Amino acid sequence: MSNETEADLTGVAPRVAPKPKVDEIGGRKLKPATLMMGHGYDPSLSEGSLKPPIFLTSTFVFPNAAAGKRHFEGVTGKRPGGAEGLVYSRFNGPNQEILEDRLSVWEDAEDALAFSSGMSAIATLFLSMVKPGDTIVHSGPLYAATETLIARILGKFGVKWLDFPAGATREEIDKVLTEAATGNVALIYLESPANPTNALVDVEAVAASRDAIFTGDGKPPIAIDNTFLGPLWAKPLQQGADIVVYSLTKYAGGHSDLVAGGVLGSKEHINTIRSMRNTIGTICDPNTAWMLLRSLETLELRMSRAGENAAKVCEFLAAHPKVEKVGYLGFLERGEDKRQADIYRRHCSGAGSTFSLYLKGGEPEAFAFLDALKIAKLAVSLGGTETLASHPAGMTHLSVADERKAALGITDNLVRISIGVEDAEDLIADFSQALDAIGG
Ligand SMILES: *Cc1c(COP(=O)(O)O)cnc(C)c1O
Repeated sequence: MSNETEADLTGVAPRVAPKPKVDEIGGRKLKPATLMMGHGYDPSLSEGSLKPPIFLTSTFVFPNAAAGKRHFEGVTGKRPGGAEGLVYSRFNGPNQEILEDRLSVWEDAEDALAFSSGMSAIATLFLSMVKPGDTIVHSGPLYAATETLIARILGKFGVKWLDFPAGATREEIDKVLTEAATGNVALIYLESPANPTNALVDVEAVAASRDAIFTGDGKPPIAIDNTFLGPLWAKPLQQGADIVVYSLTKYAGGHSDLVAGGVLGSKEHINTIRSMRNTIGTICDPNTAWMLLRSLETLELRMSRAGENAAKVCEFLAAHPKVEKVGYLGFLERGEDKRQADIYRRHCSGAGSTFSLYLKGGEPEAFAFLDALKIAKLAVSLGGTETLASHPAGMTHLSVADERKAALGITDNLVRISIGVEDAEDLIADFSQALDAIGG
């Protein structure tokens, strides 16, 4: 948190000197799971409180007028590098800054920003990077609200878009980027795996294509929504993405009790997005930031357990006579799609815990199954401690046109499942009895 630098700036010594950051011991770089308990917070600045207090304040007192002026030079961009201290809670606060420091750790990003929702993070990213006449090139499908934001909302302001399917090959990506390059491409925006198809985007191929087609100054940054597999099972900055976007509402928050978003990347990109966030106020509140700090302490535990559970549940489901198919990333290696399996091997360290279950039959069978579930809850969303199940065709994708639904594999027999951290055998017992209840 920035109090550390504030003392140097103002010449006012804090009551207790802050302890130096520990992120390495004897040349060993500490792992995120270790750093989540202390990184970015010094108890001696908060009365020795082990956990950071929630700073409920709208504004911050300057030690003197010169310090106040210097902060505003940072906030307004008159001086590069942003504010060096805290100014006003629409710009930042201690809880959000600790959260941002810890979010960066997971993907080795230079910097990060916290937002009031995944969508406000995405909207702020777009607003900071595109202007009328620009083109956004994106993989498809995207989270429905992101598609609406690009096509219907930014479209109203003269922003154009072009897309390629999530599983596209280098040649297909080249074709779309070459066509787009006749205009001004402001941003390449990806989402992987795509929802609900689970198709993975080849980020390395997108980066190679971008670098081949755009040379010189006009190189558009590559941003990617990493909500489904991040930060544990996918780290797209390592494959050539420049900016990573999160709905922290999902696995990062992980308890289905908050809504928040995050953006990670280089200092340069983050500064661009930060000025827009400062202007429009899409930062998350201190209480939500505090809850996320608590969540991040168990992130690796929760995601690991959910991932192990999903592997067991999917094995059970795939072998069941009432199941047509299980769309689970963990099965790519044994499937026919060599290209998707190859992307998985290069980009992912785990299969996640959200997958598609295609039952034999149609809507009646899917509804009978959903209505019979006793442990799994019937709700949209994902990444929480509890297992959730929903019916995309009748719920999240109800308003999607029939042809597009068919193209995306959103059939009436599709159930989306997000596995939580319950006992795996209990979950299997629940799915087993719910399958038995179909047609019974
Ligand atoms: C949920 C979700 C979002 C939107 O996040 P909110 O926190 O609900 O605003 C964006 N992208 C993906 C992939 C999501 O699952």
